[in-house]
Amino acid sequence: MSSSSPPTVVLEAKQVRKTYKHNQRPIEILHGVSCQLYQHQTLGVIGESGCGKSTLAKILMQIEPASDGELFLHGKPYHEIPKAKFRPQIQMIFQDCYSSLNPRKKAIDIVAEPLLVNSGLSKQECRQRARAVMAQVGLLAEHHHRYPHMFSGGQRQRIGIARAIITKPAIIICDEPVSALDLSVQAQIINLLLELQQTYRLSYLFVSHDLAVVNHISDQILVLYFGSVVEYGAARELFDTPKHPYTKALLASIDTGGGGDKDKFYLLEGELPSPYNPPTGCAFHTRCPLAQDICKHSTPKLRQHQGRLVACHLIA
Ligand code: SF4
Repeated sequence: MSSSSPPTVVLEAKQVRKTYKHNQRPIEILHGVSCQLYQHQTLGVIGESGCGKSTLAKILMQIEPASDGELFLHGKPYHEIPKAKFRPQIQMIFQDCYSSLNPRKKAIDIVAEPLLVNSGLSKQECRQRARAVMAQVGLLAEHHHRYPHMFSGGQRQRIGIARAIITKPAIIICDEPVSALDLSVQAQIINLLLELQQTYRLSYLFVSHDLAVVNHISDQILVLYFGSVVEYGAARELFDTPKHPYTKALLASIDTGGGGDKDKFYLLEGELPSPYNPPTGCAFHTRCPLAQDICKHSTPKLRQHQGRLVACHLIA
């Protein structure tokens, strides 16, 4: 985490929508999501599986196109940035590091590849730089010529991180980077990401379903429910005093270790609604313990409340 100020916006999404066609019917996955990532900071994007957070990450990375809305990198619209200039500036770390690594390539060549593709440097020069970043993420010389299946999950994620930093990007989009790892390995990878953030002045967009992990690494947190932002603000305040009933439910599901201060009233029950049959009104009303009649037919707007944004009829 960083306390640098005043912060500069490096990445911005404005009213991003994503719609798929299913049997000739439009199915909306993202309903106008806006967010800002500041320089040398981390924006945590949190929500259950299927809430649209990975879709948002892919749109920001230009792996998928948005159906509507605007995207900016360092204040410049995406469509004005040539692909060759865009790629080295934003890299991605994936949840499934095994399937994201080419099984037929040696670790050193996997790490060197983005530089080889984007820099015009020779293979030897790219390999030299790959050796340096592999050392920086804790991989040894003996690992250079091994194939992905010869590594543990944590080591494979280190390869993914080395591959992401080799082009010296300004931004890394981390899509559930530790959710497939054991708890102790999770902590090592999070600490490595924090160290690299200091070294390279990186900005992270950190997507996770785990609010405890997101809180540990984030400066800002964006809470997504059913493709909409329901709460968005500074990590510490949001974690200490969540306002939206869904954020409270996510917090209640965290194992605090002490076990005494969970608000059982907010324990999350049921499942996300289906995008093929979206609920009317507030999308959370089918699971919200505070739902009123108005919640069933009126969608709450995202409004400023005590220094953050919240979308709930009960928060004035
Ligand atoms: Fe719950 Fe109603 Fe607020 Fe939605 S608007 S979170 S249903 S109280």
